Amino acid sequence: MELKNKTIKKKLKKREQARKSRKRAVLRNRKFIENYKLDHPCSCGEREPCCLSFHHIGDKEGNLSDMVNRGYSIRRLQKEISKCKIMCLNCHAKIHNIKELKQVI
Ligand SMILES: [Zn+2]
Repeated sequence: MELKNKTIKKKLKKREQARKSRKRAVLRNRKFIENYKLDHPCSCGEREPCCLSFHHIGDKEGNLSDMVNRGYSIRRLQKEISKCKIMCLNCHAKIHNIKELKQVI
């Protein structure tokens, strides 16, 4: 019984450490993305980070905000960013609207 309790305690400690480690990675990733956006305004001039998004041009491994929140490494985020163009939400919506219109026509 004592041994079983020790094993459970170890497991719980490991799980807690993993949770904390992921939390730190998420905060690090959010800071990284925020700084990246500050350095890369939209071509229309918008530079407010909360108004900027990533438009995929190349193949897509995943949604960047999901990758950030899952604690992916900075290297994987950079790889995904390299396949994107940074745009403000308005310009991003216009591009997708044009794409959809082309599919209808
Ligand atoms: Zn724009």
